[in-house]
Amino acid sequence: MRMVKPVLTVGIAALLALLLASVLLQSRPLQAAVVLQYHHVSDTTPRSTSVTPERFREHMDYIEAQDFEIVPLETLVEKLKKGEELPDNTVAITFDDAYDSVYDTAYPLLKKRDWPFTVFVNTEPLDQGKNGFSTWAQLREMAEEGGATIANHSTKHNHLQRQKSGESQKQWRERIRSEVVDAEQRIEEETGQSHRMLAYPYGEYNNQVKALLEELDFVAFGQQSGPIGSHSDLYALPRFPFGGSFAEMEDFVTKVNTRPMPIDSVSLYEDMELKSPLDEVVVPEGERPVLAVTLEDESLSSRVNCFASMQGAIEVKAEGARFITRANKPLTPGRVRYNCTASTGESGRFYWFSQQWLVTDKKGNWVHED
Ligand SMILES: [Zn+2]
Repeated sequence: MRMVKPVLTVGIAALLALLLASVLLQSRPLQAAVVLQYHHVSDTTPRSTSVTPERFREHMDYIEAQDFEIVPLETLVEKLKKGEELPDNTVAITFDDAYDSVYDTAYPLLKKRDWPFTVFVNTEPLDQGKNGFSTWAQLREMAEEGGATIANHSTKHNHLQRQKSGESQKQWRERIRSEVVDAEQRIEEETGQSHRMLAYPYGEYNNQVKALLEELDFVAFGQQSGPIGSHSDLYALPRFPFGGSFAEMEDFVTKVNTRPMPIDSVSLYEDMELKSPLDEVVVPEGERPVLAVTLEDESLSSRVNCFASMQGAIEVKAEGARFITRANKPLTPGRVRYNCTASTGESGRFYWFSQQWLVTDKKGNWVHED
């Protein structure tokens, strides 16, 4: 009997050590969050950028009933940067452009629940007291009494990556820098807040814009859909935009329940043979750029479905842990997104990842699009 006990103890200790090691191996904290993006909450504003007050209430009722955790956007960003855990029921609520319906209609519904939210402000219309926008006083009230975060949407709401005709590269860079830095300064003067978070106007960016934001020590949000995960690009964080037909309850429920695709790496190419690497998300009309994504979970690649804007389902090729996809038809000027999803195995839950392309005309000129 005397001999058994130590042996048993050693055995248990070894087992515990083994267990601990395996836990540690998998202990990279889970990071998953969904950021909701709204513009107007109104039934009298342009439909494509509006949700009706009734629909907005339904969205909020749903996330309340399902016990999602609503966090301030800057908390989400901080945890993401530090690699801290973000449970996958984490949601942040954002509004772009600071339209008046945010104060009039959305704010009372959020304040009642004591929920934090973020307003991305383009400062010039507010400084000009333009109709249809909230005022600085209203933003201060929402910040002080409703816990609102006031963040940056640039001064003028330009397409940041577009160089103006006759503008040198250097002049363009200086202009963009001041459109971001000046807006941050105005927000700080009016509200005392400076979180260094930008939402790209129209969700548009290229590599140079991203590099500038990194240099300025900002993080930046796009409008390409998808949940945020540990793989997400801090200078092009995804959000789910809601407006027009993309606001139905069924659509909302699917999106707010998505999980980030477990991505190891993302590469862009000109062809399916993955021969000519692309380092830019801006392509001329007529191209069919290739997206190649290597997943952490090899069993997943064969279950991925991808869709392109205006084209529906597109071809997907699985090769080991990697899937490769491209549009079926040549891209036309404007914003194009490839959305890729796969079932998580849980009912109604999907992994989701979206890649945005900005398509110029054949000569590389920007075609006007709001
Ligand atoms: Zn905007």
